[in-house]
Amino acid sequence: MKAVQYASARNFAVVDVPDPTPEDEEVVMKVAANGVCHTDVNVHEGEFFASFPLIPGHEVVGTVVDKGKSVPGDMAIGARRIVNNASTCGRCYYCRRGQPLFCENFYSLGINGPGGAAEFIRVHYAKTVPIADHLTFEEAVVAEPLACAIHGMDQVGMHLGDQVLIFGAGPSGQLLAQLAKWSGASRVVVVAPPSAKLDLAARLKAADITLPIPRSQPEAARPTLAELAPQGFPVVIDTTGAPAVIEQALEYVHIDGRFLVYGMARFGDRVLWSPYDIFRRQIHIVGSFAQIDTMDRAAALLASGKIDTTGLITHRYPLHEYARALDNVARGIGIKTVIIPD
Ligand SMILES: [Zn+2]
Ligand SMILES: [Zn+2]
Repeated sequence: MKAVQYASARNFAVVDVPDPTPEDEEVVMKVAANGVCHTDVNVHEGEFFASFPLIPGHEVVGTVVDKGKSVPGDMAIGARRIVNNASTCGRCYYCRRGQPLFCENFYSLGINGPGGAAEFIRVHYAKTVPIADHLTFEEAVVAEPLACAIHGMDQVGMHLGDQVLIFGAGPSGQLLAQLAKWSGASRVVVVAPPSAKLDLAARLKAADITLPIPRSQPEAARPTLAELAPQGFPVVIDTTGAPAVIEQALEYVHIDGRFLVYGMARFGDRVLWSPYDIFRRQIHIVGSFAQIDTMDRAAALLASGKIDTTGLITHRYPLHEYARALDNVARGIGIKTVIIPD
């Protein structure tokens, strides 16, 4: 099959590799769509926990085309499934204490195991989730980023009626804004550079207010945000991973409020925060790492129609244009970029 194959960081080619064959409990799926996101850019740079050689691609949907002999009979050839890319060992310190997300042997297809930027992918049958019949593959491929966003909402613990401020209108910003709305936010404000992305946040009716602010002038948001929430926002979410945005975002957090560090920054990035301010205003700074157990909820939310994916996918590339797809994501062009192997 054709696959994007990294030999080492920043060094990949689209090559022929052997077709995967399923172990007893595995299925082989024909990849219908593979979403590309900032994680793939970090993987490209050899960051996150990438391990090479590697076929990238962790947001995968497709059709079962082959299965091992221990795969249950109700999982038919031809079944349309979402890949839950992450699995854990069940034996390490963190798994034993019920924190499998932090598994010391965390195994994630497309990060440290062969992923979906290929014609086929091999996956344990239990690490797949059915796609509702009425959903297209392009709707379903949003499941992985949505699952991560659900995990983020679980971490931040917002309350009914909270005003929520979100920085960034990329895929994560769009999904988190919708989740915040469904979680009972009284108002969702999305701040991002003026662009079609920000317009979409308004069009999907997730953002009550969109504030177009160029990245280079973050302080331009201050007067409007102060007017909207003179005491600050009980929930503030950064999806940009940009240190300048993260640094400033803290000032908009309400006393005893929560700041979700959602966007993935680079290893070496640092921000300057006042510990006194965090102490005095009792700010909760909350992290959110990937997901391990929210894929079923993501699939259910997509099936319910509550999460609107209209217009989210703006760019589609065949496998041999993986470089362009990656470049798109790295430069923030469009909203969601996907690889369609066919
Ligand atoms: Zn991703
Ligand atoms: Zn483990």
